[in-house]
Amino acid sequence: MVDAVSSAVRAHLEGERDRVRGQLRELHADDDSFDEGFADTSQVTAERGEIEALSASLTETLHDLDDALVKLDAGTYGECERCGAEIGDARLEAMPAARLCIACASNKR
Ligand SMILES: [Zn+2]
Repeated sequence: MVDAVSSAVRAHLEGERDRVRGQLRELHADDDSFDEGFADTSQVTAERGEIEALSASLTETLHDLDDALVKLDAGTYGECERCGAEIGDARLEAMPAARLCIACASNKR
């Protein structure tokens, strides 16, 4: 990968990582409000479930972004983790932390 491209990708991945971290912080900043006297209502339980699901998916995204940055350092960024093919610029642009090429991703088990 050309250096200029690689540093643009890195800036993009790091920007995404900061954004996701900020979202996670906000989610957890709201945790306290659950304990203010109405913690047992079903609405709060449902909201808490949504927040946990969102939090889990953000944590996964964060993990993907970290891995993508590691791969960028290792020079393997942009390779499919399953078949080793090029993931492709268009797909990486849409999903910078993509682990799989489009063929493998659409062939999930
Ligand atoms: Zn593949």
